[in-house]
Amino acid sequence: MSREHVTILGAGLAGSLLAIYLARRGYDVDVYEGRPDMRDTEIPAGRSINLALANRGIRALREVGLYQAVHDLLITMRGRMLHDVGGELSFQPYGKNDDEVIYSVSRGGLNELLLNTAQHQYGVNFHFQQRVMAADLGAGSVRMRDYDGDRQYVLEGSPVIAADGSGSIVRRQMSKLPGYRAREDYLDHAYKELTIPAAETGGHRIDANALHIWPRGDYMLIALPNLDGSFTVTLFLQRSGPDSFESLTTPEAVTEFFSREFPDTLELIPDLTTHFFENSTGSMVTVYCQPWRAGGRFLLIGDAAHSIVPFHGQGMNCAFEDCYELDRCLAEKGAPGPRGWERVFAEFETRRKPNADAIAAMALENYVEMRDTVRDPRFHLKKELAWELERRFPETFVPRYSLVMFHHVPYAEAQRRGVIQQEILDALIGDRASLDHIDYEIGGKLIAERLASHTRIATSG
Ligand SMILES: Cc1cc2nc3c(=O)[nH]c(=O)nc-3n(C[C@H](O)[C@H](O)[C@H](O)COP(=O)(O)OP(=O)(O)OC[C@H]3O[C@@H](n4cnc5c(N)ncnc54)[C@H](O)[C@@H]3O)c2cc1C
Repeated sequence: MSREHVTILGAGLAGSLLAIYLARRGYDVDVYEGRPDMRDTEIPAGRSINLALANRGIRALREVGLYQAVHDLLITMRGRMLHDVGGELSFQPYGKNDDEVIYSVSRGGLNELLLNTAQHQYGVNFHFQQRVMAADLGAGSVRMRDYDGDRQYVLEGSPVIAADGSGSIVRRQMSKLPGYRAREDYLDHAYKELTIPAAETGGHRIDANALHIWPRGDYMLIALPNLDGSFTVTLFLQRSGPDSFESLTTPEAVTEFFSREFPDTLELIPDLTTHFFENSTGSMVTVYCQPWRAGGRFLLIGDAAHSIVPFHGQGMNCAFEDCYELDRCLAEKGAPGPRGWERVFAEFETRRKPNADAIAAMALENYVEMRDTVRDPRFHLKKELAWELERRFPETFVPRYSLVMFHHVPYAEAQRRGVIQQEILDALIGDRASLDHIDYEIGGKLIAERLASHTRIATSG
């Protein structure tokens, strides 16, 4: 009997990991990707060269036996290294102990590993330079353009899983259906990537085991380490206004802005003005849409369904968790067969949509935290208190950041707990300037009253 066939659109992070999951379940998988094969093409500069990988992404990779291979691509980031305007550094750990860390990983390196594994270990068929032009949602067919041979053709046969990223053609096609809800919220801020090259000796010029932040209130610069000793630096800035991408139009203006706001980076980024004008300026969008599917014929996954802003470092992690959850739906609902995909897609959407909405909201909130709140001493006091409460009540009180980054509780549950925990922290701290006289007995009572009804958190993380 021939194996059931699944088509995936997009061979980015979600599409290639999903191909592995589906091929592992015995499906015959074809993946169509608009770009050339990244394994023999240079990736253009300025496209989020590295990413923060956390526990949700790691679990999804571990499940298909890839974590060991991925491990060789990672650099541990233990916390945030804050750079103030005077060049003073302060370090804020991410978690309560050395196990609670996140990792910097090369997008290209990770994507290549996924492509190679899918193709060579699982026999997935990849078709590069094949662009989705339109989808016929009723018929379950996709109009494609072959950029290699410059011809158009139609892909027949469903199910089709669209992992074609935040600008998904399939989603835009779905949004024309009656009753469909879709919104793309663009931030007023944009981003630009720059580089701190490796030191002449080959090592990193600044601490490699931290995510560096230059928080400046309305904007910020961040830097994540790469294995070759360099850092990928990202400037997040308003599109228009006095200090903005619109106002930085000359090398002199860029140099003046960096000398004023990020003086310690001038020595670190030697090609600042060249790269500033050569590299593209990227947009950031939150995508909300519903449904994520058209019957059992089409499903949106990853950024195509729920693109989020990058400030919680969760877009890829969430997309990987999608793959893990879709696989669980397949396992729990049994082999769908030609007619059963609708059931599986519906179950997947029911499980994931509230969680995607929750991480979208938390990612937006985290932008304010990263560029501004991290400078406030009360923020640190609350963080210290949150860890102290976690030490005392480890299964009930876990800081929201930790729930998102180091645990697997659904994002929506992390968000709900986060609101209650914030109120408990505010009540305990009041207007105190230190943790010296915190009443932990009252803390324990509040936690028991307000959090005990929630699921207990596994302490293993
Ligand atoms: C600046 C920045 C920093 C980020 N940092 C982090 C981070 O630290 N941690 C984290 O977890 N996430 C981060 N993200 C988010 C992360 O990049 C995305 O969530 C992730 O790439 C989603 O994977 P995806 O496969 O759904 O989409 P993509 O990775 O965008 O893949 C989509 C694929 O579809 C292809 N495609 C698109 N249109 C078509 C078409 N018409 N036809 C055929 N193929 C098509 C594309 O070429 C691409 O290969 C960041 C994003 C940005 C912009």
